[in-house]
Amino acid sequence: MNHADKKMDTIIAYAKRKGFVFPSSEIYDGFAGAYDYGPHGVELAKAIKAHWWKDVVLTKHNVYGLDAAIVMNPKVWVASGHVGGFSDPLADCKTCQTRIRVDKELEKLGVTADEKMSEEDINKLFDEHRETITCHKCGSKDFTPARAFNLLVQSNLGDFSTDGSNPVYLRGETCQGIYVNFKNVVDSLHPKIPFGVGQIGKAFRNEISPRQFLFRTREFEQMEMQYFTRPNEDTAAYEVWKQDRWASYIRMGIAEENLRWNQHDNLVFYAADAWDIEYKFPDYGFDEVEGFHMRTTYDLTQHSEHSGKDLSFNDNGEKFIPHVVETSAGVGRLFTAVLAEAYDEEELEGGDSRVVLRFAPHLAPVQVAILPLMKKDGLAEAAQEIFADLAGEIRTTYDESGSVGKRYRRQDEIGTPFCVTYDYDSKEDGTVTVRDRDSMAQERVAIKNLKRYLQDKM
Ligand code: ATP
Repeated sequence: MNHADKKMDTIIAYAKRKGFVFPSSEIYDGFAGAYDYGPHGVELAKAIKAHWWKDVVLTKHNVYGLDAAIVMNPKVWVASGHVGGFSDPLADCKTCQTRIRVDKELEKLGVTADEKMSEEDINKLFDEHRETITCHKCGSKDFTPARAFNLLVQSNLGDFSTDGSNPVYLRGETCQGIYVNFKNVVDSLHPKIPFGVGQIGKAFRNEISPRQFLFRTREFEQMEMQYFTRPNEDTAAYEVWKQDRWASYIRMGIAEENLRWNQHDNLVFYAADAWDIEYKFPDYGFDEVEGFHMRTTYDLTQHSEHSGKDLSFNDNGEKFIPHVVETSAGVGRLFTAVLAEAYDEEELEGGDSRVVLRFAPHLAPVQVAILPLMKKDGLAEAAQEIFADLAGEIRTTYDESGSVGKRYRRQDEIGTPFCVTYDYDSKEDGTVTVRDRDSMAQERVAIKNLKRYLQDKM
């Protein structure tokens, strides 16, 4: 089907029906801003994260992994500027009191505003564009000035007083865990500069209106990498990482025509440049999946000053605060993009139709289904042996219920790229049928070569 004909509502309902994504706490009427990955969703999300980790950490000789705690000393968030200024600018319609996010309204006009911009700067932009911003509900143009609503989520971990006077924060972005470990990584690994540190983990934001499925949630997962360079070497590194990340999307099976770059035109004071990779979501249109930021020396300088620890890098006697190039992607947004890209309704010959998820084989939640033609005559036992042989290395399932045609359809529906059928001939000649999800073509493959054959296709 054409990408333009896809509907997010259909895909979201499908994702629930097929065990990919469930609304959080559904039996208690749900909980805004949170979703749960179901049995197939957790595998897809893990595969997306593994793809990122491989591309950003494992295949780069100078990028190291990290897994920092979600809760940190609250001073981290003061130093980073989040306590003072990590906020959404909200304004109320004076006629009907509908609340709008001013930065998002500006974005629709092609004006980007960063969440760390001051209230004053946002209001300047707002005032410049007031004539073109109207209330969605009543059409009025009369709004209050924008007020900053802080996005950090507070908790009271270890604080047994009940007045909330000593809040801790659930991290609003994972990269602060990287900055506060900068010295630990340098002291333990002695890396040469430039080097990067990558991390995947949960982040939390008090989004005023969580919406659009996994696109804007209050709990979400980020995949972030901070690349530390010498001064003046960040621009070149920035370009290399942008190209590298773009290529990674293509390897995930995302069509280039559904991706584009968007450069931010209004930057926070410390950022030298900011670009996003946007995906063309059905219905929602192009929107950010991954952000690239040139963060200069800002974060390490802030943490040096606030912690009193010297976070400069010593390169053979030459000391300097490294510049930082960041890439930051959201698992949920990428998951939604991969799912939307894969979703297909196909008319088949003979008036039949099927829903098929065309995941790249290395991302598919189930990569191979083992299907005995019949349960009897030892076919099931032999097929189970093949399952046992593959299951530890390839995401494999086993299904013996219903006709083979129905079982193929079930696998198409969750995007399994290969179905392996063990039949009566298999008993005689030691071969099985491998059926390809997309072409539906079938091929006989020797059982002894099956694992290698499948691994080559992944
Ligand atoms: P937006 O402008 O859409 O709020 P952002 O510019 O605040 O996004 P960043 O702070 O740059 O986003 O975060 C990096 C990445 O984290 C984003 O590209 C996105 O993929 C993901 N992300 C950020 N906020 C959310 C959220 N509320 N829900 C899901 N993913 C998110």
